[in-house]
Amino acid sequence: MLVAKDSYMYEMIRTELVDAIGAEFVHTCDDDKLGHSIDYYWIPEMWHDRGMPTPKPDFIVHPGSAEEVAKIMKIANQYRIPVTPWGGGSGSQGGALPVYEGIILDTKRMNKLIKIDKESLTVTCQTGIIARHLEWQCNKAGVSTMHLPASIACATIGGFLAHRGTGVLSTKYGKIEDMVMSLEVVTPTGEIIRTLPVPRHASGPDLTMLFLGSEGTLGVITEVTLKVHPMPEAREFRAYVFKDFHTAMSAGAELMRSRLQPCAMRLYDETETLTHVSKVFGKQLDKGAYLVFGFDGPKEIVELQMKYAREIMEKKYNGEDYGSQGGMDWWKNKYKFFYPGFMFHIPQAFGTLDTVATFSDIENVYWAMKNVVQENFPQARFIGHFSHWYEWGCMLYARFIFEGKDVPADPGEAAALYNRVWDMAIRAAIANGGVINEHHGVGLKLGRYVKDLYGSAMPVLEGIKKQLDPNNIMNPGKLGFKGF
Ligand SMILES: Cc1cc2nc3c(=O)[nH]c(=O)nc-3n(C[C@H](O)[C@H](O)[C@H](O)COP(=O)(O)OP(=O)(O)OC[C@H]3O[C@@H](n4cnc5c(N)ncnc54)[C@H](O)[C@@H]3O)c2cc1C
Repeated sequence: MLVAKDSYMYEMIRTELVDAIGAEFVHTCDDDKLGHSIDYYWIPEMWHDRGMPTPKPDFIVHPGSAEEVAKIMKIANQYRIPVTPWGGGSGSQGGALPVYEGIILDTKRMNKLIKIDKESLTVTCQTGIIARHLEWQCNKAGVSTMHLPASIACATIGGFLAHRGTGVLSTKYGKIEDMVMSLEVVTPTGEIIRTLPVPRHASGPDLTMLFLGSEGTLGVITEVTLKVHPMPEAREFRAYVFKDFHTAMSAGAELMRSRLQPCAMRLYDETETLTHVSKVFGKQLDKGAYLVFGFDGPKEIVELQMKYAREIMEKKYNGEDYGSQGGMDWWKNKYKFFYPGFMFHIPQAFGTLDTVATFSDIENVYWAMKNVVQENFPQARFIGHFSHWYEWGCMLYARFIFEGKDVPADPGEAAALYNRVWDMAIRAAIANGGVINEHHGVGLKLGRYVKDLYGSAMPVLEGIKKQLDPNNIMNPGKLGFKGF
């Protein structure tokens, strides 16, 4: 507790918060505090699982508007208490954890769709809306955000904006930052600001981009206007198995260089093909690397794109065709990898070493990470797939898994083992041209690498933080910024 519960200061702050947004929306019960003390980061989950206490917020507030968020920020500045935005709590980097206690600002009451503009093809909404709810409402109006991440059912649009998230169709429609027109943000000092209404202009630096990826350290994003797209007439997938992962990577890279513009592509390394892919589809693939891709849009254009893509896959790289059924099976099961029975969970120890690199570097990054994990932690399993492809490179979704028996019983030792794997794998990736990371963000977990990543530009980032947040109350200790 930052403020002792029996102190008159605690009551003073609680009264001010109640005055600002109403008693119904200020929570202090223990269950709610516990629920807001663990996100999807493995260490706090393990810590709690072993009966250890996790940092809890003093207050959980549920504002309904930017004006209410502004009032909360002013109170927090007055009493110098930290504020941590919380969307769905599905982040894997500990970004939403109240590590210095204080106020959790849960955004989910800000869940309104404000407007769909079918002439400009945009949607404006509050950012506490769950991504799937926004998508459903857009679909009803005949459009789609095309932002379809695996956590679509549990994460908020604000969480994706704050983390620069990526959905399964990013290869054609972009990451969330490519989808944004403009933002409304409440700054740490409680000012409500709006960025310019269009994303392409020559009127100075881009303030919209400053807040995308700021992970709740520079303000609370309260409203967004996103681009939307007409529902495609056709969406078709096709799957191939290649003799090895290198051949499949070469075929995938060539498809991207051809500018045929697939909407999604995913390549599984040999280990993940044998284990995960086989298990999800219920049919054993006994060798090779599984690659699946698709196109969407007008039917005739999709057919033509598929025809040219097949030539690359079959004629040039000898891919074994698993047909459109193989491809559509993957599309239908695309989230199943995260369902119970497929997803990793405690007592296993696991992490996603999400890294992005150019085509020239990506295979070196893969081998450097795999070798360093296997040589130093022979008890760990290492699997990887490549999703989110660009014309210049792609993202490696590498994972390490320790079975429960290989995870130390002592929570401190378990956390130390976990951190050692990250340290070694990340440094191997960076040394080979990889950037950590593509869509999970930095949060608490990767904060210690940000200074290395930014080098002499780090003071620029810190200067912006200081200017916007003079009392260091916004999500302190995250994104490599100093603690409270
Ligand atoms: C099963 C599973 C699958 C996943 N798949 C994907 C995937 O396909 N693609 C992907 O990108 N991610 C994925 N993730 C990770 C996670 O869902 C994303 O990082 C998501 O962006 C988190 O959103 P959230 O609302 O849960 O945010 P939270 O976890 O609540 O918060 C994340 C960070 O954003 C900040 N924040 C939240 N809302 C705001 C706001 N309005 N203003 C300012 N800061 C804010 C928080 O302070 C915190 O730093 C997955 C996670 C799980 C558990």
